[in-house]
Amino acid sequence: MSDISPITGSCLCGRITLKIDSLNRDVVACHCRQCRKQTGHFVAATRADNDQLTVEGAENINWYQASPEAERGFCQHCGSLLMWRAMNSTHTSIMAGCLDAPTGLKVDRHIYVDDKGDYYTIEPDVPTFAQSD
Ligand SMILES: [Zn+2]
Ligand SMILES: [Zn+2]
Repeated sequence: MSDISPITGSCLCGRITLKIDSLNRDVVACHCRQCRKQTGHFVAATRADNDQLTVEGAENINWYQASPEAERGFCQHCGSLLMWRAMNSTHTSIMAGCLDAPTGLKVDRHIYVDDKGDYYTIEPDVPTFAQSD
């Protein structure tokens, strides 16, 4: 877990910035079909309680609901995927790639590996789960 606070991040064009006072999880890599299709590879996301997350430029976020359970927030200008959240949840997953280094984070598990692409391998020392963890 990261002990760096606050952690900052942004989309590629900079219209949306994030400040996270406290994260509550290391990075989970999700290889499900929805994450692969949206990102072009797979998702790697940490997570914070909503009251620890400050978003500037939120009017630039488009939320796409790929399933009834969750929605995915991306910048409507540059396309950067920034957030994933279950409907009515008290926490938000935050894409690790949008965060500024150092993050103090590491990938601690891979999920939905049954759906993973056939063109890459997962490092053998990180736990994997066929579906959710
Ligand atoms: Zn942007
Ligand atoms: Zn996924």
